[in-house]
Amino acid sequence: MKKQKSYYIHTFGCQSNKSDSERIAGDYEARGFVEAKDWKSCDELVVNTCAIRQRAEDKARGFLYNVVVHFHELGTQRPKIILTGCMVHHGNEKLYEMMPMVDEILPINEVGFNLPTVRKDTKHAWIPISTGCNSFCTYCIVPYSRGREKSRSMESILEEVQNLVSQGYSEVTLLGMNVNSWGLEKVGVGFRKLMMENKNYTREDLPDNQSQYLTPTGIPPFVRLLQAVSQFPEITKIRFMSSNPWDFHDELIAEIGTNKKIDRFVHLPVQSGSNAVLYRMNRGYTRERYIEVVEKLREADPEIVIGTDIVVGYAGETEAEFQETVDLALQMNWKVGLVAIYSPRPGTAGWKIYPDDIPHKEKKRRWEVLDKIINKDNLNDRPIVI
Ligand code: SF4
Repeated sequence: MKKQKSYYIHTFGCQSNKSDSERIAGDYEARGFVEAKDWKSCDELVVNTCAIRQRAEDKARGFLYNVVVHFHELGTQRPKIILTGCMVHHGNEKLYEMMPMVDEILPINEVGFNLPTVRKDTKHAWIPISTGCNSFCTYCIVPYSRGREKSRSMESILEEVQNLVSQGYSEVTLLGMNVNSWGLEKVGVGFRKLMMENKNYTREDLPDNQSQYLTPTGIPPFVRLLQAVSQFPEITKIRFMSSNPWDFHDELIAEIGTNKKIDRFVHLPVQSGSNAVLYRMNRGYTRERYIEVVEKLREADPEIVIGTDIVVGYAGETEAEFQETVDLALQMNWKVGLVAIYSPRPGTAGWKIYPDDIPHKEKKRRWEVLDKIINKDNLNDRPIVI
């Protein structure tokens, strides 16, 4: 009997990558492959990469070198190596140059929403509801690696929930880079484009809410989606990530307040407590707008707890600007915060426009100060370099 071909997927990075890997696995199995027990014994090895920080890219390259060395020492043929994930933003030519062992590159936007999915968890499932991002925060590589934001249809999402329910799942997490803007109608002109076109564009021109979308009339689409998923009696817990301070409509806050199937933990990245830094980051909201959203959430239900993400040592961050983030941390009482040390990502607007001028030692000190305030004795014991 002919031996079935096998695949193995090595995943780096965030939950979106893990969810993509479940769909890549589903595609393999639909084509008759079986999962190998590890990368040493597979016929095809998929490396799903992360590019959010230099260290993440280094890890993927280090892993691939280990693979090559392992098979070279054994004197046996190595598996076919397929690279996907956020490192594809480098472009095929550069990738083959950087990692000559790669046999094929799978563009990340070819990992569709509707592929069959292989999940390890039997109770909780990740469901992608959108992909890509239009926001172009100046430090972030995602809009280049994952492309523009695209919402999955309501029918397709609900069909997946129905399938999950029939398999016994009771918890879901709706995934996207900006879940709150799911299904909204686009304005058409991004703020980044405005900034590029108008050199005199200043902080004052930037609205408090950098939504790329028209304000919805009636119930915002993401709220309707949450309500539709809540209609399944078997679904007892709904989470979503990531949210951003823009498109966090009052109707969404009210829905979270009253719909107890929605988890009480809300992840709401702030990135900086300084309006000047937020402007350089092209985050398009102010510290005041962020505080307003958090206060409204806490008013809607005092049980709600908030987590955040912060980047320290962003280009030009003065001590006074850093202290504004420290003050905000003392004021917000976040449950948890992922504090990352800035490192420029080639190709981003931040990398092009702003010199990376804060010494690493100082960035690390700022990381320690904030991590201590926010995470107290919990979680992160090592700084994350973004
Ligand atoms: S919202 Fe900003 S930080 Fe988040 S993925 Fe989009 S560009 Fe990156």
